[in-house]
Amino acid sequence: MDMNCLFCKILDKQIPAKIEYEDDNVMVFHDINPKAPVHLLIIPKKHIATMMDVTEEDLSIISYIHKIAQEQYHKLGLKGMRLINNCGEKGGQEVFHLHYHLLGWTE
Ligand code: 5GP
Ligand code: ZN
Repeated sequence: MDMNCLFCKILDKQIPAKIEYEDDNVMVFHDINPKAPVHLLIIPKKHIATMMDVTEEDLSIISYIHKIAQEQYHKLGLKGMRLINNCGEKGGQEVFHLHYHLLGWTE
């Protein structure tokens, strides 16, 4: 936990979010400014700043996030999705806690 980090504060429930799913390793919540009919953020519970900071020992979280995306796809009845990671300031990253945007369409 990094208590200066917005998403760590959401994980800690200091800041409310519309939580779709949570387990020991990840949280899934709705983006406050949705860019698609469904816009979820999938984050690891471990504070990792960017995709480039994922180490060998953390690699399994990436495949786990893909599995969670598949589950949300089925649960929300999606017909298509984009799974997006913005990495680094130049890559459009604004919150420096690793996250994947799940943009989904239902029709
Ligand atoms: P990034 O640009 O870092 O890839 O994406 C950060 C995302 O976090 C943005 O899509 C933004 O709308 C979302 N966001 C920023 N602040 C909050 C917040 O307080 N709550 C929620 N649910 N989403 C947020
Ligand atoms: Zn964090």
